[in-house]
Amino acid sequence: MLNTDAIVPHQLTLKDRFNFRCYPGISCYKSCCKNIDIMLTPYDILRIKKRLNLTSREFLMNYTYTFIEPKSGYPFVFLNKNSDEEKTCPFLYEAGCIIYEDRPASCRYYPIGQASLKRFDFSVGITDEYYFFIREPHCQGFKEDKEWSIEDWRIDQGVDLYDDINRGWRELFFTKNLPGQKLDEMKQKAFYMCCYNLDAFRNFVFESRFLKVFDIPEERVEKMKNDEVELLKFGFDYMKYLLMIKETLKLKS
Ligand code: SF4
Ligand code: SF4
Repeated sequence: MLNTDAIVPHQLTLKDRFNFRCYPGISCYKSCCKNIDIMLTPYDILRIKKRLNLTSREFLMNYTYTFIEPKSGYPFVFLNKNSDEEKTCPFLYEAGCIIYEDRPASCRYYPIGQASLKRFDFSVGITDEYYFFIREPHCQGFKEDKEWSIEDWRIDQGVDLYDDINRGWRELFFTKNLPGQKLDEMKQKAFYMCCYNLDAFRNFVFESRFLKVFDIPEERVEKMKNDEVELLKFGFDYMKYLLMIKETLKLKS
């Protein structure tokens, strides 16, 4: 996912079409899983830690590193690479991707990239999302005769669900260049916990005075207890409150 207002690649819409097919046996098979920087979204982390049967902390410690964007102070999480010569993805094995059903959103999108111009309307959310082709010389999939619209590709790869769940997170960093929005260390830690370290956020919500301080409807509390996606979405709302982006929560009287 790319967020830029400086370099604008050729912009495509959901209706644009392209030829592509990727399958075991194609001459370039697995070459795209080497020496790449994969930024993980909150829902990527949730899916992969469940897949590996790890806590979010264990997954983050063993498989990722954090990059703090200097201008905004926002933390972003990236997948580690193996230390071999080719710098392979840690999930790439002989037979292919071992987490394929839970692979990150950027792997699902490939060879399409997603970007947004920095336009954000608080009443409707992110505006001006667009797509572009990632044409790497090693990728032979473009030579295949299967045709897609970008819209159909997103649905086929299941990435529409990822975008839907991650929307609240993206809305957080779309405000990053507003005056005074550079995160201090405390807010960085809160952002990291709410968006990436979900098990720590669960403890924070359910094992502290949190629910005594905030007025959260009982129905929502129950959903958060039983559904990690609901907890994650609540984390995005809590960050919006903390960063004073929107009054998403109310204090108890
Ligand atoms: S390089 Fe392209 S066609 Fe080859 S395996 Fe990767 S995505 Fe598929
Ligand atoms: S997560 Fe899977 S699909 Fe993505 S780079 Fe790693 S091995 Fe390839």
